[in-house]
Amino acid sequence: MKQFKTESKKLLDLMINSIYTNKEIFLRELISNASDAIDKLSFESLTNPDIKVDQAALAIRLSFDKDARTITVSDDGIGMTEEELDKNLGTIAHSGSEQFKEENAEHQGDDMDIIGQFGVGFYSAFMVADKVRVVSRAFGADQAFAWESDGVKGYTIEPAAEGERSGADDHGTDVILYLRKSTDADDTDRFLSEWGLRDLVRKYSNYVRHPITMMVTKSRQKPKPADAGDDYKPEYEDYQELETLNSMTPIWKKRSGDVEQKDYDEFYKSTFHDFADPLRTISFHAEGTLSYDALLFIPSQAPFDLYSKDYEKGLALYTSNVLIQEKCADLLPDYYNFVRGIVDSPDVKLNISRETLQQNAQLRAIARRVEKKVTSELEDMRDKDRESFEKFFENFGRGLKFGIYSSYGSKASELADLLLFWSAKNQSMVTLKEYVDSMADGQDKVYYASGESRELVEQTPAVKGALAHGYDVLVCTEDVDEFMFQFMRSYHVDAVAGDSEHKGSEARDVELANVADANLDLATEDEKKEAERLNDENKDLFAAIKESLDDKVTDVKVSASLDADTPATVSAAGPVSLDMERRLQGQPGM
Ligand code: ADP
Ligand code: MG
Repeated sequence: MKQFKTESKKLLDLMINSIYTNKEIFLRELISNASDAIDKLSFESLTNPDIKVDQAALAIRLSFDKDARTITVSDDGIGMTEEELDKNLGTIAHSGSEQFKEENAEHQGDDMDIIGQFGVGFYSAFMVADKVRVVSRAFGADQAFAWESDGVKGYTIEPAAEGERSGADDHGTDVILYLRKSTDADDTDRFLSEWGLRDLVRKYSNYVRHPITMMVTKSRQKPKPADAGDDYKPEYEDYQELETLNSMTPIWKKRSGDVEQKDYDEFYKSTFHDFADPLRTISFHAEGTLSYDALLFIPSQAPFDLYSKDYEKGLALYTSNVLIQEKCADLLPDYYNFVRGIVDSPDVKLNISRETLQQNAQLRAIARRVEKKVTSELEDMRDKDRESFEKFFENFGRGLKFGIYSSYGSKASELADLLLFWSAKNQSMVTLKEYVDSMADGQDKVYYASGESRELVEQTPAVKGALAHGYDVLVCTEDVDEFMFQFMRSYHVDAVAGDSEHKGSEARDVELANVADANLDLATEDEKKEAERLNDENKDLFAAIKESLDDKVTDVKVSASLDADTPATVSAAGPVSLDMERRLQGQPGM
């Protein structure tokens, strides 16, 4: 009996005592090793002309035995010699055991995260099995060897029995798991079924390059006997058929020109469980020091839980076609939390022992590109397909506003041009740019007003007054709007180059102002003079009104900015509107 190396023991303990709920990832790990082993053999055959293998025939086979409680993962890969079994399975992460130790010290109590985020490799088998037997025959060797362990006491290596991987070119590896007793908490029994294994393959290894096959039982109608009478009832029989469980070619690796939209739509709907086609599909690829493929979707409707606390944002993260994380939150900013999709990068390492820091830098680089891509797709939609964009905004605009609000306005430069507001003047949705482009002569601010409904806001004296002066007002009815504007303060207008016909303009910041703000000055000089005169004339009357209101108001005066059919209004003295004051009692939350 040989002992595991110290580092391996720690990881092994982690696995054996794991309460991690996603124990099902063991199959992903074993399949990814099998796939690696086939890749290694393919690679060898590319570089060594003496090695002749039929690439297309190399496969990964799954089987199970319900009574014996075993699952076998078998591959036609490069296999392992006796020494390799010892070295590779007795010691975890040959190159990086030191790093693993460091990480583990740092992540005390974070075991779940480690298991969830990174491949933990071969030992994850011990999350579900109490005994593992590996029978392997290295390519070109004529003897197979068997490695066996219960994880706790150590492991043994012996020549494999006759018949366990036999045949002249029978290279490859069988990993046989003896499943632990099923408990309520971890229902391992479900893995001992066709649907259970098919499910895991579809979920975690659907896009592994090599075929993953399983003999499945199917039922068919027996042929009708020639002498069957009128009362013949069809009879059925079971038969066995080899089924390929995975779809193999990842759709995200294909160039968008080679894929039909309906295939993207189908993929989207089946992968992300949506009934509707996506509004937009974004596919892009990078090659070089950091290479990856990405396929993103903008849904056409918000999932019912988008604005609830339970909603989890994130993109599926694959490395070399193997799923590492179903929802990698780091790949999406909060305000694009509605985006669904996949990022696949061979440079994001599956191995727990690799440097995590570097990995994060890679993830960050990918995340930046993802964000840029989504932004430019939305801009494109805004400019070329306004109807879709308005539909998009209705569903997800609130999140964009929160993006500006929760960044204290610092994200405004990126997001402001994606916002739409109801224009009181046009009675339609406008962008800030459209508002600024059609400002009245002499108007130097963007005016907005907020309240419970469009109708109510449009009836307010302040809005009617502004409209009467020829100024448009953006009507805001969401609680986040005014908070967002407070943080934004101004809207940046880019410089416009002039030409022979058009005058150019300098870049400038246009102030955003609440039209209900009492200090807002909409009146003309004449109107102001007239108001002043009236204020003087009625000084005593106004003082009496103020007094009779028990000083509940700070001032009573004639306003020059009200329109003709509004006799009086109550307005806030400070910078915060009455509506916002009311809403401040319930701060906005996502
Ligand atoms: P990793 O795959 O990240 O290297 P694992 O713990 O999953 O780490 O596997 C450890 C090593 O065992 C692999 O690097 C490989 O050399 C060897 N190995 C595991 N499974 C197989 C297999 N099916 N065929 C050949 N070698 C294997
Ligand atoms: Mg592995």
